[in-house]
Amino acid sequence: MSHTAEIIAVGTELLLGNIVNTNARDISQALSAVGVNVFWHTVVGDNPARLKDALDIARRRADIIITTGGLGPTYDDLTKQTICEAFGRKLVLHQDILDNIRAYFEKNVHMAMPENNVQQAELPEDCTVFGNPVGTAPGCAFETGGIHVLMLPGPPFEMLTMLRDHALPYLRGLSSEVIVSHDIMTFGLGESPMEELLREKMSHMENPSLATYAKPSEVRLRATAKAAGREEAEAMLAPVVEEITALLGDVVYGIDVPGLENVCMDLLKKQGRTFATAESCTGGRIAERITALPGASAVYRGGAVSYWTSVKARVLGVPQEILDTCGAVSEETARAMAEGARTITGAEIAVSVTGVAGPDPDERGVPVGIVYIGLATPDGTFCRPCDFGKRRRDRIQDLAANHAFDVLRRYLTGLPIQIR
Ligand code: ATP
Repeated sequence: MSHTAEIIAVGTELLLGNIVNTNARDISQALSAVGVNVFWHTVVGDNPARLKDALDIARRRADIIITTGGLGPTYDDLTKQTICEAFGRKLVLHQDILDNIRAYFEKNVHMAMPENNVQQAELPEDCTVFGNPVGTAPGCAFETGGIHVLMLPGPPFEMLTMLRDHALPYLRGLSSEVIVSHDIMTFGLGESPMEELLREKMSHMENPSLATYAKPSEVRLRATAKAAGREEAEAMLAPVVEEITALLGDVVYGIDVPGLENVCMDLLKKQGRTFATAESCTGGRIAERITALPGASAVYRGGAVSYWTSVKARVLGVPQEILDTCGAVSEETARAMAEGARTITGAEIAVSVTGVAGPDPDERGVPVGIVYIGLATPDGTFCRPCDFGKRRRDRIQDLAANHAFDVLRRYLTGLPIQIR
């Protein structure tokens, strides 16, 4: 049986716009992975009457209600009391939880527990307790009349820990089926052409199902299967993943990998190669993404953010003649920047980016969105010219960085540098 959930985030700060409802986002993402449909997100302030109204609505349209926030010890933390009133449950004191909270204060806060924290040890009668090892407010779940009510704390780290360790296992236990997904990661084919290519196939697929999720210039295809056991689900998924990968060809850069930089890092490590960067309009984004990965020092030697033309010339050794005749945003400059980065760092491979991120054209009139990706290697120097059109500055920068990693990935896997 499939379940339908509503997430109710409790907190006046959310309504005032002081904080963003990241808890709802994170819970939704996690629930889709366990096959629970989330049909509603509700936000309500720290107000018992309005929370009661929200619960009355939610119980008519969902069989799983998950609340976040309002479990704390202060006067405005009213979630538990209001839920208990709405569902006719008693709140009862759990001595073992109280002892844990006291111990938490002594160990982590080095003070005696304030008396108003006692209410955190009060939970609905006959509930499943969700322990909170990273905070004081425990969460809980109970079932009444076919509706499961789960209460999680507001602070995102506490919520996420409890979601992973308690709420998701609880929800998995409601279903006899397992849900397994695999992400086919692609770069270089837009979401519309991708859907056109796969529409026919996707419309007939129910189990496993196939869905597209677009990121800037990337499309993640998620294949999901429901089955009685993991092995069976994997066996259902394997031919789908294989077929889609074969259909899409070299735009697929990995299965279940987080991003292009991870693939590049693995390839460089396996091949025992090093790389360097020369960045202009991306301002260090490529270096930042690769150094964010543990173990980057094995493959990344370093790079230059050569924003000014004079830095391209003096630091990277781009010939002045190229800069004067072709301009800073040109294929020739991109190539020379990559060669310069390779020379100064001694890396085997170097990538470069030069382009116009906007909002205005460059001083030579090169329009916004024109970007050149250079690649210097022992097999020669290459360039991928890109035209992203007039978009937001940060989008152009992200796209350019993605293309740089894609150029590197293609070189390392022996594919043509240009996307077909
Ligand atoms: P505490 O024991 O800390 O009082 P609580 O369960 O009562 O926890 P709240 O007091 O409602 O939770 O929220 C605590 C903090 O958690 C908020 O100030 C906010 O920073 C964060 N928070 C609450 N709800 C959300 C949410 N939906 N998304 C992101 N952050 C949230």
